[in-house]
Formats: sequence, C-alpha cells, structure tokens
Amino acid sequence: MHELGVVFHIIDDVTDVGRENGLTSVQSVTLQLGTVSSVIPEYLTDCWKWAIKKTDMLKEAELIIEPIPAITFCEDCKKEYDTIEHGKICPYCGSGNTYLLQGNEFMIKEIAGA
Ligand SMILES: [Zn+2]
Repeated sequence: MHELGVVFHIIDDVTDVGRENGLTSVQSVTLQLGTVSSVIPEYLTDCWKWAIKKTDMLKEAELIIEPIPAITFCEDCKKEYDTIEHGKICPYCGSGNTYLLQGNEFMIKEIAGA
C-alpha cells in the first residue's frame, strides 16, 4: 500500500501552493484520479483523514476525488472502448494493438482555501 506516501506528497504540494497564495487554511482539495491508476480511492481517503491531523493548514481539508474513466484506443480499427470492461484486447476487432488514452491520471485540480 503506497497510498500514505501519495497522501504525504499531495499534502506537501498543497502546503507549498497554499503558502505561495497566503492561505491560512485549506477547505478542500480536488484530485483527478484515473480509474486504472494504481491508487485506491478508499485507502487514499483513509490515509488522508489520518495524515491531515498532523498538519496546520490542512487539518480541516476535505479530499474530493474526481474519477477519470479509463478509455483505450485501438490502433487497428481506430475505435475507443472502455478499458475496465475489455482490458487490452479490442472488443471490435480482437486486436491487442491498443493503448490507454486516459484513466491513469493523478493530478491536483483545485485547492479551495481561506
Ligand atoms: Zn480494434
């Protein structure tokens, strides 16, 4: 489980941004998280609740996770399909010549503070 490391990383980033913007507290952090990224949202939220208590700026901050659906593109028939449902094999032509278009995101989208 590497979610705790991920949470500390987010807290560091948010704290830096908060200081630069003269914030005294952060109310919420919106995170874009791809549905096939290696981070599990439930673990992330648990670690978040634990870790923010040790900070000054983020102790009240809510973590909002915005899921990004995973979509794969097929190079052979040029179609897009749902990665979670079909994996690496194209459901239209059966080709394995595919790549992930989106769904592996891990990005801080928004920080709301006071
Ligand atoms: Zn195909």
